[in-house]
Order: sequence, then structure tokens, then C-alpha cells
Amino acid sequence: MNISENAEKLINLLSDGGYKAYAVGGCVRDFLLGRPEQDVDITTSAKPEAVEEILKRNSVRAVETGLKHGTVTAVLNGEPYEITTFRKDGEYKDNRRPESVDFVDDVKEDLSRRDFTINAMAYNHKEGIVDLFGGQKDLEHKIIRAVGNADLRFKEDALRIMRALRFSAALCFDIEENTKKAIFNNMYLLEHIAKERIFTELKKLLVGDNAMQVLDEYKEVIGVIIPELRPTFACIQNNPWHIYNVYGHIIHAVDAAPKDEIIRLTMLLHDIGKPSVKTTDEKGIDHFKFHAPVGAEIAKTVLKRFKVSNEIYDKVTTLIYYHQGVENVDNIRIKRWLAKIGEDYTKALFQVRIADLYAHNPEKIDYEVKKLNSLLSELAETIAAGEAFKLSDLAVNGNDLLSLGYKGKEIGKKLNEILMLVVDDQLHNTKKDIMDYLNGE
Ligand code: ATP
Ligand code: MG
Repeated sequence: MNISENAEKLINLLSDGGYKAYAVGGCVRDFLLGRPEQDVDITTSAKPEAVEEILKRNSVRAVETGLKHGTVTAVLNGEPYEITTFRKDGEYKDNRRPESVDFVDDVKEDLSRRDFTINAMAYNHKEGIVDLFGGQKDLEHKIIRAVGNADLRFKEDALRIMRALRFSAALCFDIEENTKKAIFNNMYLLEHIAKERIFTELKKLLVGDNAMQVLDEYKEVIGVIIPELRPTFACIQNNPWHIYNVYGHIIHAVDAAPKDEIIRLTMLLHDIGKPSVKTTDEKGIDHFKFHAPVGAEIAKTVLKRFKVSNEIYDKVTTLIYYHQGVENVDNIRIKRWLAKIGEDYTKALFQVRIADLYAHNPEKIDYEVKKLNSLLSELAETIAAGEAFKLSDLAVNGNDLLSLGYKGKEIGKKLNEILMLVVDDQLHNTKKDIMDYLNGE
């Protein structure tokens, strides 16, 4: 194994000081998987004060990041490395993080507190890979397996349930039977876990190659963290456009979407409004009128609970609001959308609509998919050509209108009117053309 020179140097400094030290956790796993190198975390028998002392003696900058948990961050050549003392976790309360940690001398105890066998390996160049729980074998067989008694491990910290799903989705690994059983036995404990921590794992799950399979196999867990999705699980859509029930459609739409957190989160929630607006006509066909605006409101509740950033909140709810193509694809005017919601949202909206279509009856979608893809190309061309679609792109501004005698609110209203004419190619975006138009009114 070949860890970074910096990490190797830090490990050497610690062992020259008479301590044990290893690279540990995710970096060992990812190295064995041949995945691009991630941050190297170091674990050592040296207590935090001793780590600080050794770093100081060797003129390596140290930052006290989490002394209580035994972590010192060393900054070497501008790169941060977390160095954490071997520890075993103290008593767990409320299925959350431990109240305290105890430092220990043996790497074995440190490895045994880690969540999954594939995350519980350590490495240094003297000893090679320290693998006490069969992590390498599980990597080879593509298995997520809890270290020790799965049931107890999820009871200690229920976030591990989400982590298991996340690693299964990201690595395309199966979850071992006992671990899987323990997940279903303990999934309600997720209700006690900080929503932000759950959301961090959910985002990583959604962009995984195996997201659809995990969302399907573990939908009951998804129902615990997003109860608003539960009514979609058995919501049938008897409609020639559909071949799946609502949840089946949702997970196929996630799968069809680009691996972008916001787009995939939008797909997960896009039809959350359907069950509550479902109607069935006299021919037995199901309809879901206004499910998009209704769904956007439900999504607001979900996203607020996860305490997401304003960016995620605004974008996801806007995309859900507009995802239901009310206008015929032949009538979509890209510049109108650009004027209404801007470049970034418009692009995302068309990506959402394409992913949505792919999760419909495949016999029905060809024409619309083609049309939406050509609209995405048109969007790129419009941007590249520098065409006007926002007020600041106009060849006139508020002062020009002032000089013509417009006042106060009139100015903004008139500028918007001009923008709409320009966007619809009814007026050239030159100062002369616009002024002539205004003077001629
Ligand atoms: P990523 O590639 O996402 O960083 P990672 O495995 O490095 O994956 P981190 O959250 O960075 O995940 O955690 C680093 C290591 O700490 C893990 O590999 C695992 O050994 C341990 N760990 C993290 N969270 C837990 C937990 N909730 N319970 C037990 N061990 C954990
Ligand atoms: Mg990590």
C-alpha cells in the first residue's frame, strides 16, 4: 500500500517517538479498492499531548481540533491530517454519540469500535495491513458487515444504519444478512439521530451507483427518515404513461438523473404530492392534478426538518414546483424559462424533466426526451451567444427610462415588459431599437 508521503512522514515521527501509528479507516478501504486517494486519517497510541509535543519538536503545525475526542490536526505542506489517539467509546446514551471516550493502548480496541469491517482496517509500512475483522475478505466479496454484534452496534449509534445504506449505494456492495436484519430491527432509532447527520448520509446515498437498489430494498428505512414518502410506497398509478407505482417511478427517476445531489434529491421528492391529490376517472384512469405545487409544499416540510442550506431548499422546491410539464414540449420557449428562473435552475429543470420521463412507460417517451434534450442544447447555445434574458442584459437601464419621464415603480414594470419582448424576439436588444419603441408608444 502506498499512502501519501506526508502521512508516511507523520507515522514515522510518531513511531520514532516510541508510539504505534497507522493510517486507518476510509483511506485504507479506498486504497484497497483502487479508488482515488482521500484524506488519510491517522490513529496512534500517543495521547494528544504527546502528539502535540512530537509535532512541535519537528516543527509541524498542530491544530487542536477535538482534544476531548483525542484528535489533533497536523498541517504538513499545507495538507491537514487528523491524528486521533486509539480510543474506545464510552457509554452510549439515546443511540447517539458516546458521552465520553477512553484512550487505550491497543489498536485492536480502536478498530473494534469502528462501524463496518471494511472501515476497520489500519496500515503502516512496518506491519502492513492490520485486518482483525475480515475487512479484506468482505471487500473482495463486496459486503458491508458490522464489526461485532450488528444489533448492538446499531443500538449504540443508529446513524450507522444510514452509513450502511450509504456505503451499499456508493460501493455497490450488499449488506450482510445479520447486519441487514439488525437494520430493520433498529431503524426506528433513527428518529433520535440529528437530522443533519442523517441528511449528510442521505445525500451520499443518492449519488451512489447503486442508489435505486438501496432505495428499493431499504424503503422502510427511507420511510422512517422521510415519513411523507410512505403513502407513495403502495400508490398505484393506473395510467398508460406509467408502468410503476409512485415509489417505483420515484426510484427509477433517481436512477435516471445525473449524479448530482440536488437533482437526485429533487427526484426523490418530486412526486411526494401525488398520493394526496389522486383521483380516478370513470374509465378507471388515475390522475394527479396539481401534484407538483402540492409536492413542493410537502418537500418544504421535509427539507426544513433536515435543516438543509437555503440553496438546496430553494432549488429543490422550485424544481419540484415546476417539474410537471404543464405546457406542451413543442411550445416550450427556453428564453422564457431563462427569464423566469435563470440559467442554473432552467438547466436543472430540464435535467429533472428528462429523468422524470425516463421513469415513465418507455414506449411513450421518445419524442419528449428528444425535444427536451434539444432544448438543453438550445439553452447552451443561448448562453454561449450571450443572448439577453435578464434585466441586466438589456441595452437600456433605469436611467434611460427616467430620462424619458418614467417614474418609480413604472420603471421596473416597463423594463420587464421590454425584457419579455426581447426574449420573445419581438424587439431587438439595442438601445436605439428600444428607445424608438418607447418613444413610439
Ligand atoms: P468517506 O469516504 O465518506 O470519508 P469514511 O469511511 O472515511 O468514508 P468518515 O465519516 O470519514 O467515513 O469516518 C472515518 C472512519 O471513522 C470510518 O472509516 C470508520 O472507521 C469510523 N466511523 C465513522 N463514523 C462512525 C460511526 N458512526 N460509528 C463507528 N465508526 C465510525
Ligand atoms: Mg473520511
